[in-house]
Amino acid sequence: MSPKPQIDVLTESALINADGSPLIIAGPCSAESEEQVMATAHGIKAIPGVNIYRAGIWKPRTRPNSFEGVGVPGLKWLKKVKAETGLRVATEVANAMHVYESLKAGIDVMWIGARTTVNPFTVQEIADALRGTDIPVLVKNPVNPDLQLWIGAIERLNQAGLRQIGAIHRGFSTFDNAPYRNLPKWNSAIEFKRLLPEIPLICDPSHIAGNRELLLPVAQKAMDLAMDGLMIETHIDPSVALSDAAQQVTPENLGKMLASIRFRKPEG
Ligand code: PEP
Ligand code: MN
Repeated sequence: MSPKPQIDVLTESALINADGSPLIIAGPCSAESEEQVMATAHGIKAIPGVNIYRAGIWKPRTRPNSFEGVGVPGLKWLKKVKAETGLRVATEVANAMHVYESLKAGIDVMWIGARTTVNPFTVQEIADALRGTDIPVLVKNPVNPDLQLWIGAIERLNQAGLRQIGAIHRGFSTFDNAPYRNLPKWNSAIEFKRLLPEIPLICDPSHIAGNRELLLPVAQKAMDLAMDGLMIETHIDPSVALSDAAQQVTPENLGKMLASIRFRKPEG
């Protein structure tokens, strides 16, 4: 038996909407250019209910020789998004340098990606780089279905003094030809909520589905399971996206999708 996780988080955190509505995070898989970042942000700003704008600045690609992100210059585009739209901005951090650069740029929320959560050394490095800040951090599940590894990453951040921590369920790698890019294994989300009820759990239907067609049923299932929010990859022109093109939606289609989701499971 693993010890019960001891987590000390704020109940009033930037990752929980005060009115009880689900936290909605949207934005491109990757920041590609200033024009793409700004056009996507203005499209998203026009949709009611989006709380946080996401964009990957450093991209952990499975194979080399693909687009690996624009790096530090992209951070000033996110600053501009914040200034022009008032949306809070989030990016992925995978080492201490990413943390320092993001803090310097005034990034509001950071997330730890699925390929980073698997590595306790890297998670500890990130936790140490964040020590002394109170920045909200979201921890994606590791690529493999290991709940203890996921919880361990959260504990490392918490023990470094962070009190605004959330988790993202983005599914688990599979060799099989499944309809999903990453298997949702919904019982893992249910078990996570049972073990850590105080941590908001956000679903990432984009990386679970891997295609636009499955996004809505995955998002709806997450809401039916009383998960606390959604992170949905949104691009001004998905057909030319430099990463994850098949799963991104336009801001307009994001709006339609959010409007069609039933957000609270009827009682009884
Ligand atoms: C992403 O959010 O674009 C990403 C790389 O996700 P994950 O770490 O879940 O694969
Ligand atoms: Mn992506």
